[in-house]
Amino acid sequence: IRDRFCIINIISVYYLKYMFIYRFILEQIKRGYLMEELLKELVEKNRKFTADGNVANYIPELDKADKNALGIYVTTLDGQEFFAGDYNTKFTIQSISKIISLMLAILDNGEEYVFSKVGMEPSGDPFNSIRKLETSSRKKPYNPMINAGAIAVASMIKGKDDREKFLRLLDFAKLITEDDTLDLNYKIYIGESDTGFRNYSMAYFLKGEGIIEGNVNEALTVYFKQCSIEGTAKTISTLGKFLANDGVLSNGERILTTRMAKIIKTLMVTCGMYDSSGEFAVRVGIPSKSGVGGGICSVVPGKMGIGVYGPSLDKKGNSLAGGHLLADLSEELSLNIF
Ligand code: GLU
Repeated sequence: IRDRFCIINIISVYYLKYMFIYRFILEQIKRGYLMEELLKELVEKNRKFTADGNVANYIPELDKADKNALGIYVTTLDGQEFFAGDYNTKFTIQSISKIISLMLAILDNGEEYVFSKVGMEPSGDPFNSIRKLETSSRKKPYNPMINAGAIAVASMIKGKDDREKFLRLLDFAKLITEDDTLDLNYKIYIGESDTGFRNYSMAYFLKGEGIIEGNVNEALTVYFKQCSIEGTAKTISTLGKFLANDGVLSNGERILTTRMAKIIKTLMVTCGMYDSSGEFAVRVGIPSKSGVGGGICSVVPGKMGIGVYGPSLDKKGNSLAGGHLLADLSEELSLNIF
């Protein structure tokens, strides 16, 4: 009797164990499936907004982007990936590079030095605005997310010349986006440096004010090149995940201190979406950084990174359909950090 009881016991324990594992796997598949379906549905729902904007054309080559494109890539902290739409299209990360260069500049020089040269306040002005540089009482660019601040930050990247500085930045970008294929789009870089006259004038002004200490042209070359780094929605989604994980890579290696990660995420909330950062925070509520190439890198702390691509921009330079898509996703999955 005892033997029989024992066998029945063993069988039921195994039965329960396997039922549990089976159900768990089934649940995961179902969740993944629902997530993919949700992303697909939201991309198609919001694609119509691409008609209301325009692709950037102030840099030659950017205007070659497909205005109707819209895609999304989600990377969760527990290693799941979901995507929909034009998630695989390559585009230049443009202003999204400003968060990458800020991380490296802080690692190179420390927080105190970096923020002695550039502020932490939203400017309320367009990304390429020049006026507050001279009229404001503060003698430094308002924040590292506007061009003036980002050029000052680029000047702080360590290296013996602009080539070495940029290669260090590119290597760092590859590390934290976990994307070894990341590279420069040379045509766009040439377009940026041939037409970025406002950026030249701001950089020389900053040199005159002592904000840029080194060679101005080197700072500009690094800046133009960082804007011309090319990736996909997956690249910026992984970048978002890195920050969502407080500066720790998927393999567990810590790259940033938690304080640094916090600084970057906070500046993304307050200044990351140009002069519509406030409205974006209310509508979407997720730390994000956009670029005029059509990308938006979003960070849901402790949960996931989101990369959106939609090159049709609104008047302020943010992906129009991308913003709507993120607002819907934030609502559907309750991602608003506030
Ligand atoms: N390369 C661009 C510029 O400096 C970056 C602009 C952006 O994405 O906001 O004009």
